[in-house]
Amino acid sequence: MRCLVISDIHANLTAFEAVLEDAKGLFDKIWCLGDMVGYGPNPNECVTLLRSFDHLCIAGNHDWAVLDKLDIDEFNPDARLATLWTREQLNNEVKSYLDELPTMLVEDNSYTLVHGSPRHHVWEYILYPAIAQPNFKYFDTPYCFVGHTHSPVVFQEAPLSDELCDAFIPDAEPIHLGQARLIINPGSVGQPRDGDARAAYGILDTEAKTFSYKRVKYNISETQEKMKKQKFPSRLWNRLAFGW
Ligand code: ZN
Repeated sequence: MRCLVISDIHANLTAFEAVLEDAKGLFDKIWCLGDMVGYGPNPNECVTLLRSFDHLCIAGNHDWAVLDKLDIDEFNPDARLATLWTREQLNNEVKSYLDELPTMLVEDNSYTLVHGSPRHHVWEYILYPAIAQPNFKYFDTPYCFVGHTHSPVVFQEAPLSDELCDAFIPDAEPIHLGQARLIINPGSVGQPRDGDARAAYGILDTEAKTFSYKRVKYNISETQEKMKKQKFPSRLWNRLAFGW
């Protein structure tokens, strides 16, 4: 099976559509790692579009925040504002869909899917090796997909648990899934933060055992215009052009 692995769409419909167009014919199913909503202007549309595909999806912190399932006091002011705006927009069908999302899934006995980390499914950011290495103890499968940081990265488990794991920023060359256990972050569709403004996604081929990273340009100003119209803070739409 070929899976389109995506995360952190954040209600950016234009970016999501660009990814689907770019990946057309390359996948049989979508695996979505959470944060469908929050920050962007099209929360209902993004969820509805995802649901029109054969897919699975897990909950992210923003999906919970818009349902008031977690405290938004720790969000930065812009994120809080976007959360409150999103709460007003969501239709009941989308709300109950988000409400029923699991926080972890295991597929094919080989792939664990969480938004944050295996240790703290919804909240923890795996930003660097010192956080990644202890997390290898918290899942049983060879591979784990995470989102949440909005930056593509691969962590490879260290042979000894007191050593630091390897981390690398992937390029266009497909990664061969072999003996080494990996934590893989495909990056963000709707709000990349690795200095590359293009939407990020990955294609997992479970038979060939490869994972390929992809980037695709989308019409950033279209999303920005929608956000301006809704009077979103300028920081929120400005950042999209810079990928941070
Ligand atoms: Zn996110």
